[in-house]
Amino acid sequence: MFKFYNSCIFCNSKKLKKEKNQHLPKNFYVKAIISDLNLTRKKFNQIEVYRCSKCNNLQNNPWFDENTSKKIYSNIYGQHNKSWTNLINFSRNKKYSSHGQLYKFLKKILI
Ligand SMILES: [Zn+2]
Repeated sequence: MFKFYNSCIFCNSKKLKKEKNQHLPKNFYVKAIISDLNLTRKKFNQIEVYRCSKCNNLQNNPWFDENTSKKIYSNIYGQHNKSWTNLINFSRNKKYSSHGQLYKFLKKILI
């Protein structure tokens, strides 16, 4: 169910550092994933957050393997509310979602 990563999923750097003060959320999504996948809270708490020293990407490790991820994103949460809101805002109002400085930052580190 879980897959461990030795390198950054974005830039492939192996310089991953565990984040301090990790607080796992207890929101709707976490509760539903634990329930739908028959996980224990202890198993779910194995997931920790790491920061890539090269690109600053934050990633969970371990994370769900490909099959479980597909189940989560396609079946359990195929309708992500924020994404639908962005799409509706664009189609009705021609509004783009705001990503702050994200693309500027990505362009800077990738080019
Ligand atoms: Zn990286």
